[in-house]
Formats: sequence, structure tokens, C-alpha cells
Amino acid sequence: MKLLSIENISATYGGIHALRAVNLHVDSGEVVSVLGPNGAGKSTLLRVISGLVKPEPGGVVSFHGRSLIGVEPYKIARQGIAHVPEGRQIFPDLSVDENLEVAGVRIDAGKRKTKTAEVYELFTELATRKKQIAGSLSGGEQQMLAIGRALVSDCELIMIDEPSMGLAPVIVMRIFTTLRDIMESKGLTLLIVEQNARLSLQLSDRVYVLSQGEITLDGPVDLIKEDEEMRELYFATEK
Ligand code: ATP
Repeated sequence: MKLLSIENISATYGGIHALRAVNLHVDSGEVVSVLGPNGAGKSTLLRVISGLVKPEPGGVVSFHGRSLIGVEPYKIARQGIAHVPEGRQIFPDLSVDENLEVAGVRIDAGKRKTKTAEVYELFTELATRKKQIAGSLSGGEQQMLAIGRALVSDCELIMIDEPSMGLAPVIVMRIFTTLRDIMESKGLTLLIVEQNARLSLQLSDRVYVLSQGEITLDGPVDLIKEDEEMRELYFATEK
């Protein structure tokens, strides 16, 4: 079932075309990656979905068949879309506990407690640091907290912008594997934006490649891995 649908979406900043007639969809329960180099338009795509950037007229962004265009970002979040932006955007002066509490402010206290306990079970690194000020966490722990905040918010779709940024591959793999487990056990859906193709391909069901604002390739992971251009660009060192 199509959960998120993007049709003919273009976006510009002044005269700069960041997205050009993009078509993409995410089905319920899928892990979908959008790959592309710096400046390809990946972050802009997520910002359009979460209502932070207004697309050009004539396109469609819909969630559960309802249009998101023109809907305010906080209302889009309330519909069940959590956006974990580049740089994570946690509250650095609040503790781990407080960051999770704020994220779950719109759900009832009992549910928030259950969700928070689930986050601590998944990310044990956070469970031992509940009272620690978030700004003093390591990069990997901050990424876990940012994802934890999305989970506590009781969302259906999590969109994560460059989870690997600035982190050691082993930490990224740990985070990605946990995410995949969460998706499978909780029936959540994940849209990842990444430059690191190798990691994303290991965990995704389907992939879109974005280049200068345009989708140049898309398909199931196995087909993408076979693509000659992809092999040259991302796997040149592999046999
Ligand atoms: P990165 O991986 O480096 O974050 P990206 O694929 O996420 O890149 P975007 O951040 O979406 O790419 O940027 C797409 C294009 O839009 C780039 O040319 C960028 O310079 C431009 N752009 C992004 N944000 C703005 C802005 N606020 N004002 C003007 N131009 C912008």
C-alpha cells in the first residue's frame, strides 16, 4: 500500500533548481533510500515532505492519500511523519530523558512511558545516560537520541537525513541494523537519505538515485547493485 506519494515535484531556491519533476513513493513497511552526492537535492526532498520547503505548483505530495502541500510542518508531524534532520537537532541543553519527554509531549503519559522504555531497550547506550546533557553525548549517541525522539513521537514514517554523517562505519551499521529491526517489529516505514551507498543498500528494500535534482535511477536493491553506473560510482573498489 502506498503510504507516501511524490509526483512531479520541483523546488527552487531563488533561481536554483534543487528538485526537478521528482517522482517517488514509499510503501507501508518499506525501507527506501535516496542516494546522491552533495547538493543533489536530498535534504530538499525531505524538507518538501515535512512542509519546510514549498514545492512549485503542479506537483503532488500525499500521505495516506491526503495532500500535504500547504499543510503546516507541525500538522504534518502530527499525521505521523517524523523528520530527523541532518545535524540531528536534539536539544543540547536538555538531558536525554527530557529530550525524549519533549518529543512525546502530544501523546498521553502512559503511552509516552512505554515508548520511552522501548527506546532505552533498543539503545542501551542512552539508558545508562538518562540524566546526561544531550550536548555532551558522542555523535553516535546523539544520532540514537534523535532517532529515539522520532520513535517516542509515535510516528508511522521516519525520514532520516544522512544518518552516517560524521560517524564511524561500525556505529552507523549498529544504528542502521537497529532501525531495520525496529521497522520489522513495529511495522514502521523508513525513508533514508544518504551519500553512503554501501551502507544504505545493505538495509534498504528499494533505492532512488538523485542527481542534480533529478531521479536518474530507481528500483529494488538487487537491481541497483547490478547497475553499471552505480558500480562505477559507488563500488569501484569491489570485485
Ligand atoms: P548534502 O548531501 O550536501 O546535504 P543534498 O543532496 O541534501 O546535499 P540539498 O541540501 O537539498 O542537497 O541542496 C540542493 C541544492 O539546493 C544545492 O545546490 C544547494 O546549494 C541548494 N540549496 C539548499 N538549501 C538552500 C537554501 N536555503 N538557499 C539556497 N539554496 C539552497
